[in-house]
Amino acid sequence: MAVLVAGGAGYIGSHMVDRLISEGYDVVVADNLSTGHRAAVHPQARFYEGDTRDAHFLDDLFAKEDIDAVIHMDAFSLVPESMKKPLKYFDNNVIGMIVLLEAMKRAGVKYVVFSSTAATYGNPERIPIHEADRKEPINPYGESKLMMEHIMKWVEQADGIHSVALRYFNAAGAKADGSIGEDHHPETHLIPIVLKVAAGQQDQLKIFGDDYDTPDGTNVRDYIHILDLADAHILAMEYLKQGHASDVFNLGSSTGFSNKEILDAARKVTGQEIPAEIAPRRGGDPDTLVADSSKAREVLGWKPKYDNVEDIIKTAWTWKQKHPNGYEDQ
Ligand code: UDP
Repeated sequence: MAVLVAGGAGYIGSHMVDRLISEGYDVVVADNLSTGHRAAVHPQARFYEGDTRDAHFLDDLFAKEDIDAVIHMDAFSLVPESMKKPLKYFDNNVIGMIVLLEAMKRAGVKYVVFSSTAATYGNPERIPIHEADRKEPINPYGESKLMMEHIMKWVEQADGIHSVALRYFNAAGAKADGSIGEDHHPETHLIPIVLKVAAGQQDQLKIFGDDYDTPDGTNVRDYIHILDLADAHILAMEYLKQGHASDVFNLGSSTGFSNKEILDAARKVTGQEIPAEIAPRRGGDPDTLVADSSKAREVLGWKPKYDNVEDIIKTAWTWKQKHPNGYEDQ
C-alpha cells in the first residue's frame, strides 16, 4: 500500500515525502506544479503531474496505485493573495477537497490527513489557542480551510472517510542538510524574506505594522519546524489506521515570537545587518497566533525536535546558502 501526498512538490509536501520515505513508506506524489517544483520531488516517490480538481486525473491515479491514505497538502496558502483573490482560494481549496473526497470515495480510500491552519481561528479569543476555541477567520485563506474541515466532518458520517485536520501555525525551516527548502514565487513569508535580505538579494525587510496589540507592536507568531510538522502527519495517519475517529490538532511550538524578534534572531544566525523599516499593515493579519499543542502531544504522542527558533532559522539559512535561487539552480 502507498501513501498519496497531494502537493508533494511544494514546500511542506516535499519535506513530508522525505520523512515518509525515510520511515520506509511507499509514496506517490500528485502535484500540478503551480507553486511546487519538479526538482523538489523525492526521486524514490512516483510522480503524477496533474490537478486534484480533475476527477479523471485522480481516478486514473487511484486505478494505477494501491493507495490507503492521502495526505492533502495542495491548497493555496498565502493570506495576502487570498485577500485579493478570494475566489481563487475557494476554487482551489474547497473544490479541490470535494473532488478529492469524491475520488477517494470511488476508490475506497478511507483516510486523509489534511493541512489546516491557525488562520481558521481569526483573532483568537485567548492565547495560547485551544482546538475548541472560537473560529472566525479574518481572511479567505482561513475561511477556505475551515470550510474544508467542515466538509470532512460530514463526509466521515456519510461515507466513512476518516480525517485528521492539523492546524499548522507558522511552518518554517528546511531539511538540516539544505537539500530541500522553501522556494515560493513570489515569496511572502517572513523568514525567507528576512534571509533574502541577509543574502543581499533584497535591500530591506518591510515589517508590516508596529501598532498591533502586542508587546512590541509587531505581530506575534508561533514558528514550527517543517520536519516536526511532517512527523505529526505520520502519527496522525497511523492514528486513523488504528481505527480512531476523525479529529483536529493544533501544531505549534507554543512559543510566540514577534516579527521584530524574528528579525533579531535572523541577524544573530546569519551575522548580517539585515536592514528593516516599518511599513503599513498588510491586511488579514491577526495580532497574535500561538498554539496550545498539548492535545497533539498527548493523543498522537507528537514530540517536536526543534524547540528553538534560532535553530529553525539556521536550517532555512543553510538551504538559502546552498540554493540562493531555490530550485532554479537545479
Ligand atoms: N511579514 C512582514 N514582512 C514581510 C513578510 C511578512 O512583516 O515581508 C509579517 C506578516 O505581516 C506577519 C508575519 O510576518 O505578521 C508572518 O507572516 P507570514 O506571511 O510569514 O505567515 P502568516 O502568519 O501570514 O501565515
